[in-house]
Amino acid sequence: MYKKCSWVNCITDKSKKMKKHNFNAGPSIIPEQVKEQTAKGILDLNGIGLSVMEISHRSKEFSAIIEEAASLLRELLFVPDSHSVVFTHGGASLNFCMVPYNLLEKKAAYLDTGSWSSKAIKEAKLFGEVEVVASSKDKNYTYIPKNFTIPANADYFHITTNNTIFGTEIKKDFNSPVPLIADASSDILSRPMDVSKYGLIYGGAQKNVGPAGVAFVIIRKDILGKVTRPIPSMLDYRIYIENGSLYNTPACLSVYGCLLMLRWLKNLGGVKAIHKINLEKAKILYDEIDRNKLFKPTVPNEEDRSIMNVTFVMADEYQEKEADFLQYAISQGMVGIKGHRSVGGFRASIYNPLPMESVKALIKAMKEFEAKL
Ligand code: PMP
Repeated sequence: MYKKCSWVNCITDKSKKMKKHNFNAGPSIIPEQVKEQTAKGILDLNGIGLSVMEISHRSKEFSAIIEEAASLLRELLFVPDSHSVVFTHGGASLNFCMVPYNLLEKKAAYLDTGSWSSKAIKEAKLFGEVEVVASSKDKNYTYIPKNFTIPANADYFHITTNNTIFGTEIKKDFNSPVPLIADASSDILSRPMDVSKYGLIYGGAQKNVGPAGVAFVIIRKDILGKVTRPIPSMLDYRIYIENGSLYNTPACLSVYGCLLMLRWLKNLGGVKAIHKINLEKAKILYDEIDRNKLFKPTVPNEEDRSIMNVTFVMADEYQEKEADFLQYAISQGMVGIKGHRSVGGFRASIYNPLPMESVKALIKAMKEFEAKL
């Protein structure tokens, strides 16, 4: 019965034949080599006769995995000794609440650059006063606000370094008079960062770090322990640091995937090397969006354009061609380029593992579609 189902066969056959160009925003593309190594570890971890999914999180094998993952993240980002690296549960979103839980005594300052910043602000308001120093909501978050003052009496200043939905990015490391906290979910490891300038950097793993299921947090230890409220253990960063992220059972398989992806990045030459490639990928794609008469970028200021999430829409006179282009791009193997509903149009997420070849394939599809009209 199942065998006769031609629809299932058709999908399977087609997807086997056509090379996919995975522009998903997250969970997103994982290098082939990392998928293969993960698959091996699922069947038999390093020849021990057991799966990575069926060993104790307290075993020497798993301790080696989580320790190497943390130390590779540290090495790749040149994390100074003043900071700890831990893996938490609940994605970036749980950190929206863990940050104020651990750090907000009276007042915190936030920069509002999109939906994820707004969600972080909403959580912080549960814990104290929040001053939004600037917002780009007036123009549907198509720019990064420039002229604002960080209040010196705030407990910390929170930014979202890359706005996954709106395609804007803060590419420099701010000087802040108070601890600088960054949600770097969608641009961590894409460019060199001066970690010493940050009090805390966090994010969900599922873009540049590895598979979904785990969040990374880099914390300057001396900013902790200053709030007067009691903190539940699983929300207390100190508990994660004291227990090497093993206070309870972590997402073992996801941590293993992160380790393999971090090794992949190290072998490729690290963050500096991937940054060079990322700049090239972003440049050729933005150049085509600027050149092609059918499209226009959603972020006018080049300085604010994300090198991870490239957002664009149809030019005004070609609005009615949006669905046709999407269909054409899909027919050419593009996956995940439909824009978020709050922006519309298209979004090409070009994270670290996305090869140059895929960006070129998208550009080719854009040119071919233009030539057809
Ligand atoms: N912040 C940013 C910038 C994101 O892109 C995302 C997810 N796409 C989140 C936070 C939420 O992450 P999570 O799903 O891991 O909670």
